[in-house]
Parts: sequence; C-alpha cells; structure tokens
Amino acid sequence: MRVGFIGECMAELKKVNGALEEGFAGDTFNSAVYLKRTFPQLDSYFISAVGTDPLSKEMLGFAQSESINTRFMFSHQDKHLGLYKIYTDAQGERSFTYWRNDSAAKCLMSQLTQSDEASLTALDLVLFSGISLAILNTEDLPKFWRLLAKLKEAGTQIVFDINHRPALWKGRDDATELYEKAFEIADIALPGLEDFNFLYGFETIEEIINFLAPFSFKQLVIKNGSSAVTLVNEEGEVSEVGLTPVTHVVDTTSAGDAFNGVFLGAYLTGESPESSVNKAAKCAGFVIQHPGAIVDKKAYADLASSIA
Ligand code: ADP
Repeated sequence: MRVGFIGECMAELKKVNGALEEGFAGDTFNSAVYLKRTFPQLDSYFISAVGTDPLSKEMLGFAQSESINTRFMFSHQDKHLGLYKIYTDAQGERSFTYWRNDSAAKCLMSQLTQSDEASLTALDLVLFSGISLAILNTEDLPKFWRLLAKLKEAGTQIVFDINHRPALWKGRDDATELYEKAFEIADIALPGLEDFNFLYGFETIEEIINFLAPFSFKQLVIKNGSSAVTLVNEEGEVSEVGLTPVTHVVDTTSAGDAFNGVFLGAYLTGESPESSVNKAAKCAGFVIQHPGAIVDKKAYADLASSIA
C-alpha cells in the first residue's frame, strides 16, 4: 500500500555540547518516517519541493536513508530548503527561529505536472496538515484543493491534522477558513484538543465532537496529550482509548507527528482504530522520552518491531 505525506521538511540546526548539529524534520515528514520505520511493508512517499542546493541534496539523501520514496520530491531550480535553528536558554526552555519564507516547499504545486497528479491517484492514503496549508503559496491553493478532490474521487483516503502554528498565519480566521475546508474533504481527521482550544476556545472533547458533527469522517481521532484518545466512527459512536502517561518527558516536539504516522500505518494494515491508537501511543510515548523530532534509528528499531 502507498501512503503520501504532503508538507515541508526543513534543515534543523542545534547546538549539542557546544557543536552545531544538523538534522532534518517537518511535521508530515516526521510522520512519513515513523510510518516507514514501523511498517516497512508500506510505501511511504514524501510530497514536497526542495532546491538544487547541497543542503536540499542532503535532505533527499536523508529521506532515502529512511527508505522514504522521493518520487514526488521535486527540485526547484531557484529556491532553497527551509531552515530552522533551535535555541535552548539557561533554563532548558527551547525556542525556534525559522528561515522558510521563500523555501522551495512553498512552490510544490507549481512543480506538479498533470502526469504527476495522475500518478498521485495511485496513493491509498494521503496526509496533510495545517502547516502544509500555511506554507503553500496562497495563489496555488485552488490547485491544491482540486488535487485533493481528484485523489478522493480516485479512492485515495484524505487525512488531515490541524497542527496549528500561529506564526505561519496572518490571523485566526485565515487559518480556520482553510481548516474547515480541509475537514470537509477529509475522510480521517486527527486533530488535538490544544489546537481547538487555541482557535475556538474549546475546553472539552464534547465541544470538538459537536463542532465537527456536520462533517462526515470515516474516522475521527482526537488527541489530548497524556489523556485518553477519543475515537468517533462513521456512525457517530464515541469511544475512548486510555493511555499510560509518560512521566520522564524529554522532548514533545513530534509526539503528534509520530502518533499520526503509526496510527495510519496500523490502520492501513487492517488494525482496528482502537489497536491503531494503542500502537500510535506506544510510538509517541517513546518519542517524547528521546531528544529530537526524529529519534535515533537504532534506538527506535526494537520498539518498532514490538509495535508492528
Ligand atoms: P500534538 O503533538 O499534536 O500536540 P499531543 O500533545 O496531543 O499532540 O500528543 C500526541 C500523542 O502523543 C498523544 O495522543 C499521546 O499518545 C502521546 N503523548 C503526548 N504526551 C504524552 C504523555 N505525557 N504521556 C504519554 N503519551 C503522551
């Protein structure tokens, strides 16, 4: 089976013991990696644009080293890979500075030919997020929605996670207008309570369920940090899957991304939504006990075999 992840992967710089270390990460890219590491039998495609610069080439190499299919990672002649740097203050509090306003990934849609679009219809499932929506050039959004409609029509399941990043939006309403469009087309939605709290002031899962009731998902999965994950099926039946809270949390950066990748992998391999949540939570619980968005491959290997 083939799974596509639409978004932006950036170079990441951080100081480790005084030396500058380079890595690569981005929300949907992280999900692509965790899906592939856990379910190697699935094909994981990252759908994005990079530059032709050396850093972009390193990023492509990194994706390939994670067995990500790069067939839909287009190389833009004049643009570069986005970059961010993580700063950690004396209290251990982290902050991020980004150089992504003119990155290649913003131009993804202009790089896609009709023939690429036709090839994308062979995907069984495709994930995009609020970050994917925020970074794409605004003038390309109509083409993006048309692509999703074409994929859906061809039988590709569309998956959406809000992953709201206020800094990427002009204002709240610009974001929510697009998120509601995304919910309309999504077959599976994987939002978190935190995003709804920030955007709509919701404090309970019930408020989210009521708000999303007019949309018709095959499966709705609501994440809420260390609290239970709520599932709502096609018939509107609600159930909860309890989690084991992690006490020694090191870095929560990609908890939701790791969760999404493994949930979708398990779901596609025929696991029930409950079992898919359990597997996803096991992965996310591990990831937050290790530094970085994409944890060390060797460290993850044993867990992956116990999940899959
Ligand atoms: P996001 O990164 O999208 O904000 P959450 O913080 O809701 O996502 O976390 C996503 C998933 O990560 C949760 O559903 C849960 O499985 C796992 N998780 C996050 N924090 C904890 C925690 N403290 N203990 C156990 N699991 C956690």
